[in-house]
Amino acid sequence: MQEPHSLQVYKFGGASVKDAAAIRNLVRIVRGQAAHSQLLIVVSAMGKTTNALEEIFQLAFTAQEYGPQLQALRGFHTGVAQELFGGQAAEHRQLHQLLEQLDQLLARLQQEPQPADSFDQHYDQIISFGELLATCIVARALEAQWLDCRPMLRTDHTWREGRIDWPTTEWNVRDQLPPLLQRGPVVTQGFLGGTPSGHTTTLGREGSDYTAAIFAYCLQAQAVTIWKDVAGLLNADPKFFADTVRYPEISYQETIEMAYYGASVIHPKTIKPLAVRRIPLLVKSFLDPTAEGTRIGDCRHELLAPAFIRKDAQCLISFESKDLTFISEENLEEIFGALAQARLKINMMQNSAISFSVCTDFSAYRLEKLLGQLRDQFTIHYNTELELYTIKNYDSASVRRLTDGRELLLEQRTRQTFQFVCRSAAVAGLI
Ligand code: ASP
Ligand code: MG
Repeated sequence: MQEPHSLQVYKFGGASVKDAAAIRNLVRIVRGQAAHSQLLIVVSAMGKTTNALEEIFQLAFTAQEYGPQLQALRGFHTGVAQELFGGQAAEHRQLHQLLEQLDQLLARLQQEPQPADSFDQHYDQIISFGELLATCIVARALEAQWLDCRPMLRTDHTWREGRIDWPTTEWNVRDQLPPLLQRGPVVTQGFLGGTPSGHTTTLGREGSDYTAAIFAYCLQAQAVTIWKDVAGLLNADPKFFADTVRYPEISYQETIEMAYYGASVIHPKTIKPLAVRRIPLLVKSFLDPTAEGTRIGDCRHELLAPAFIRKDAQCLISFESKDLTFISEENLEEIFGALAQARLKINMMQNSAISFSVCTDFSAYRLEKLLGQLRDQFTIHYNTELELYTIKNYDSASVRRLTDGRELLLEQRTRQTFQFVCRSAAVAGLI
């Protein structure tokens, strides 16, 4: 039992709102809770909508035809609304308006070519529609209040990875949300923020968890619950690994590290705001809402089961000095500077006498930018379509399990962590 009128933040990701049946299930979960607590509900785009929007945006930005893809997106959302609420498409006024807005923005993009370096800015203006559309449908299904979070969650202008202006955001949230929450549940978008000039930003892919944490921090919520299609925080992604185990309880610290290495279960920025205010994070299954799940909080534990983390679409870049001199601190300064400017994050790195290697997420555009800047000083080699594996709390059996039969391109171990880069497996199958 929770304390009466405690404040809870719930986050529902794409899979939990992927169709009308999933939204009905969400309604059941929320109804079961709403009597006990004030509830802020953070919702992501439905199913694979963000990927679909990325494709549509890419086409519009490069002045290509996107009509059929947009039509599919429109049909999907209006179809779900019709299934839930009945009536004709045009009767779902708010949804209809949002789809019209999206249509207009895309048409303008396609007709008026924009400079290549405005890609990220325009990306945010378009991709945000996934969350706007989803919350519009979910709020109506719940008969809850719909909140546009963008004027509240203030960020800077770092497109696609908006950095939160904490003092302003906290002020806005504390000023505006409590009266709404007293009236009843509030539904808002994950993943979005807004700049002082009123432009939309996004917080990084899968950023809705982070949104839930930002609100919880500002409101000093009692707990955050992330509803997922898995039983809790597992030691590996069951899509890729056999015999996964659930952690019933795990510390903030361990979870931050796992997220850092790429465990996709929680967005890496989520934990810090919660840890600062000691707000527990519960990970639960929307398929089995009464099951225990995982509690992430202030706790100590004995030896944890090794965690297996896989990151795909990796790129291994090696820099060699052209005159065969050693890689110096000055060289490294230059390489790090160029990586930061291209906004390529280093997932793993290694230095040898005349070469320096980094493993990053692959992005053709960012890689080109990097090469442009460093090509004159260094001989640069790179490989793409690689995978990066990390084993946290490894032992010899877990290392063997992952490395047997693979050719490792780069390998590293510290006391707790074993990492390697290898080529993507030709045949898919559970590891
Ligand atoms: N819809 C966004 C994404 O797919 C944000 C999220 O799901 O958290 O990346
Ligand atoms: Mg998502």
